[in-house]
Amino acid sequence: SKALVWLRNDLRLSDNPALVAAFKEADDVTAVFIFETDEGIRAPGGAARWWFNRSLTDLSERLAGIGVHLLVEKGKAETVLRRVLKDIGATSLHWNRRYHPAERALDSHIKERLGEEIAVESHPGNVLVEPWDIATGTGKSYSVYGPFWKNLRALDIAEPLPAPKGKAVRHKRVDENYREPKWAKKFAPYWTIGEIAAQDKLAAFFDERLTDYPQGRDFPALAATSHLSPHLRHGEISPRQIWHAAKAFAHAHHAQTERINKFLSELAWRDFNYHQLYHRDDIVRVAMHPKYEGMKWRDAPEQLEAWKRGRTGIPMVDAGMRELWETGYMENRVRMLTASFLCKNLLIDWRVGEEWFWDCLCDGDIANNPGNWQWVAGSGMDASPFFRIFNPVTQGERFDADGDYVRRWVPELSELPDKHVQQPWAAPKDVLAKAGVKVGETYPEPIVDLKETRERALEAAKAL
Ligand code: FAD
Repeated sequence: SKALVWLRNDLRLSDNPALVAAFKEADDVTAVFIFETDEGIRAPGGAARWWFNRSLTDLSERLAGIGVHLLVEKGKAETVLRRVLKDIGATSLHWNRRYHPAERALDSHIKERLGEEIAVESHPGNVLVEPWDIATGTGKSYSVYGPFWKNLRALDIAEPLPAPKGKAVRHKRVDENYREPKWAKKFAPYWTIGEIAAQDKLAAFFDERLTDYPQGRDFPALAATSHLSPHLRHGEISPRQIWHAAKAFAHAHHAQTERINKFLSELAWRDFNYHQLYHRDDIVRVAMHPKYEGMKWRDAPEQLEAWKRGRTGIPMVDAGMRELWETGYMENRVRMLTASFLCKNLLIDWRVGEEWFWDCLCDGDIANNPGNWQWVAGSGMDASPFFRIFNPVTQGERFDADGDYVRRWVPELSELPDKHVQQPWAAPKDVLAKAGVKVGETYPEPIVDLKETRERALEAAKAL
């Protein structure tokens, strides 16, 4: 018999429950990936489309190696699926579940409609624990991370599944591609894409960087984290694989257990955000604490543009925004402070920033991106309070004390001594002259006064 697997955010062979189920049931398996045009389905951002194109090319070769053709199609999901099912004569359809309200609605609609004619089965593959399988003592969904993590870490997370085995078929090239932005081309030197690369990166992280992780993750110049996020976003690796690999590593290296737990507690934030995505309203559009819907955001197109382009005159903010633009990635601490600068110092709606990150991040994730923006903006569940306003200068002095991160991304400040690199506008004239920096010419004046705008933000929040 023949089965079809609909791949979405799960571009891998191993630990892919939908693929495994199709292999169990049928002797002929085909896979399809759809550039979905259904209303309400959030189209991937530019950076993610760039990633998808390369990941799909890699995946189609790997799938051919186990006897599966990958079809890449475009259109409304139900229409495409009907056509493909008919073309190949499949009698069953499998996919791994996703959790955005619009995605769930579409998937259940398709399940109902196609289920009248063929067997349709969905599987858990993209989170550690499905949002409805974890609840508070009183059976409610979690709104605080601490107890969520406490519960999650004690659960038996399902073991990852091995990749199915099959006889290779001739590989057909993927001929449908996402339209990708020209600006994404510059990402190439920074990334190796695909399932094998993701597994290699995980192993290298344990071997080389884990020791520094708990402290190092806050120091952006160290790049001490795993950088697995774009791989996770496209499902080239599953969270269960990471979880079990980490547990195995901790078992073999007892001294590393605490560090591994810190890493897994970060990984679990991803599940926490999926938990919110499932249980709350659409976290992409609606503040989870409704009072924040009353916030009087500013419309400041020039300041917004300066933020996007890394020309705010605040070195840590500019370094982060340029790293993002150049690589499709930004270190977590810098994400927090650039986001805080936008929605607090500039008082621009977090949704505007979320959109920009969505477009520019290779890991732009349907739960993690809005979840973290709401965390910074104070409107999320278990968010950082609004009055906690990051000062990007003191953050820089603390987490980039020798200015390595700023120098890397803002080269026009590279000759400034450490002491002044986070605050060029306050440096003595002779120091600036020696470093070849003219504030207002070679590097912008700060577009806002950090102290004044901090007060303004606090006033705006008070008025809620
Ligand atoms: P590691 O520290 O190695 O962590 C491993 C994995 O754990 C990550 O890949 C990620 O899946 C998960 N994780 C780590 N930190 C967080 C966190 N704070 N929240 C949720 N999951 C986490 N992450 C995304 O994956 N996609 C996004 O679109 C995204 N947007 C963000 C926007 C803002 C404003 C902020 C402040 C954070 C955002 N994050 C996002 C969370 C975090 O910054 C990234 O997951 C992390 O920097 C990715 O690097 P890494 O893989 O090296 O992380």
